[in-house]
Amino acid sequence: MKNAWIYNASTLSVSLLFASLGAKRNRDHRLISTLSPTLSPDSYTRGGELVDVLAHRIVLMDGAMGTQIQLLKLSEALYRGERFKDLQQSVQGNNELLNLTCPHLIEDIHERFFESGVDIIETNTFGATRIAQQDYGLADLAYEMNTAGAQLACKLRDRLSTPAHQRFVFGALGPTPKTASISPDVADPGARNVDYETLRQSYFEQVRALVEGGVDGLILETIFDTLNAKAALFAIEEYFEQTEQRLPLIISGTVTDASGRILSGQTVSAFWLSVSHAKPLAVGLNCALGAALMRPYLQELSHAAPDTYICCYPNAGLPNPMSETGFDETPEVTSALLHEFAQQGLVNIVGGCCGTTPQHLFEIAKAMGGQTPRALFRKD
Ligand SMILES: [Zn+2]
Repeated sequence: MKNAWIYNASTLSVSLLFASLGAKRNRDHRLISTLSPTLSPDSYTRGGELVDVLAHRIVLMDGAMGTQIQLLKLSEALYRGERFKDLQQSVQGNNELLNLTCPHLIEDIHERFFESGVDIIETNTFGATRIAQQDYGLADLAYEMNTAGAQLACKLRDRLSTPAHQRFVFGALGPTPKTASISPDVADPGARNVDYETLRQSYFEQVRALVEGGVDGLILETIFDTLNAKAALFAIEEYFEQTEQRLPLIISGTVTDASGRILSGQTVSAFWLSVSHAKPLAVGLNCALGAALMRPYLQELSHAAPDTYICCYPNAGLPNPMSETGFDETPEVTSALLHEFAQQGLVNIVGGCCGTTPQHLFEIAKAMGGQTPRALFRKD
């Protein structure tokens, strides 16, 4: 059951909320013990300003980096640049390598998303873990790819932020091609090609590089294996503790089929219970089914996590191999669906995933105008 007292983010500032909580501290232990400490800007050493923005309006995140790069149809030679021209293995499609070889192309994409009105851009580092880069024989470049991706995005953030519109950069941590809880071999369900410790180390390196590169927050996204995500969350917490820093964190899972479960088998509610100890600023869903089919799972998550901000950035509909980006939902359709989510009070942060372009984000930004962010509730 929910207690509807606690806070309507649109009308009550978080600092006022905390002041009132202080007064009640001795009388209501439940209130203190259940309040998320992540809702105070002062809880963070960097990026805390986003907490204030979330208290007043729906925050906009950018669209897809991967499908925007795909549209450029880059050659193998462009991916390699001068520095890597002698590599033995093909690196075409290794989008994170572009942070080193074609940074201006990545900057252009970030800039077009900022121009469409978004508040947050994600770094081009989704696949920049040591484990993912092993597939290209470039594991030792992981740290450099993350730092470069963070620095170029942050440079743009600093150039385009104004007192009236502060911009943010979130360091993107994707899943890896190897999963800790799913067998790569149908004949041997117990087989694994990666373990928790290797994942933890790989994510720790990525987190260190992103934070050292200047990001305002971290986003652990497109989660389809909860155990991989837990290794990443452990690494994030370990890094925060060691360096005495704390940045806002967004956790976003992916429901891949009509069973309403993520690939490693959990329902959305079970997934939230598995990761809620990380006390993220927001939890959400992205990618996969597109907004229309995501709705019931978003409702489930909103119900399961009433005291945490909800983030939603769907693909531009279901995949269509015949379409240029692989997805053919128009900006008008995606933005209308997200508008409806906002009207139903389901979202605090919205954006787009695969197939969404700067035009999609422009329409989404328009559709969010005047919409009230989802209110938070204490969960009893
Ligand atoms: Zn996607």
